[in-house]
Amino acid sequence: MKIIPIKLSVTTCYLVKYADRYILIDTGYEYDWKLFCTRIEDANVSLSEISHIILTHHHDDHCGLLHTILKENPSIQIVMSNLCKGLLLIGENDHTHGGGHVNKRIHELIRFKQLYISMILKKKIAKNTNLKFPPYKFRDQDIIVTGGTRLREIGIPLDGKIIETPGHTVDSISILFDDGDCIVGDAAANMLQFAGTKYCVIFICNIDEYYKSWEKIISEDAKQIFPAHGKPFSIDKLKENRGKNKVENIVDK
Ligand SMILES: [Zn+2]
Repeated sequence: MKIIPIKLSVTTCYLVKYADRYILIDTGYEYDWKLFCTRIEDANVSLSEISHIILTHHHDDHCGLLHTILKENPSIQIVMSNLCKGLLLIGENDHTHGGGHVNKRIHELIRFKQLYISMILKKKIAKNTNLKFPPYKFRDQDIIVTGGTRLREIGIPLDGKIIETPGHTVDSISILFDDGDCIVGDAAANMLQFAGTKYCVIFICNIDEYYKSWEKIISEDAKQIFPAHGKPFSIDKLKENRGKNKVENIVDK
């Protein structure tokens, strides 16, 4: 599968081509708009060529640009899980299912970063720490998917399917192509490895669910993982690191 990374301030979105159109997996923070435009221009893609946006989950760094993109091209269909649909309406990262930072070092790093931002870069505070995004109301043309939904069933002529991969959030889904490429959103990550993330994302809602989702990805024969944070990596990394972060080390937010 030809997967084009669109690297934004924090989030990497992905474009996948079919015929003469593209699907986009995730968007970025609301403030990433200019960077987003530059990146898709660099990739020689125009917004009018995007037919679908698949959202891996409702968080601010994945859905922040929805409205801005739709203003330019309202014909794009947004694809999401049913749980995502409800959470998008709220316009804020879900806090009702608990969760916390994956370990103490990450917790300290995030606290330090927030302190740094508030002291040195006062103006950036709203950008980085409010965990909010413009609420999005499901439109008739948008599409709800569940685990097992094939892309062809929803009008995307690519060989692949949706798998449910909760744990980071309750509404997380991944896109698994038949050739083994798997775009996972935050169901795995390749960031801050020096602080012991071990291919987990920094915030985890339920670590048991998170690793169960890894088992699902592994058992479905995924080969290459495309995370929203960090560079793509081999499925072997998930096999080697499953279960490495422990529930007792999660630091509640
Ligand atoms: Zn994210």
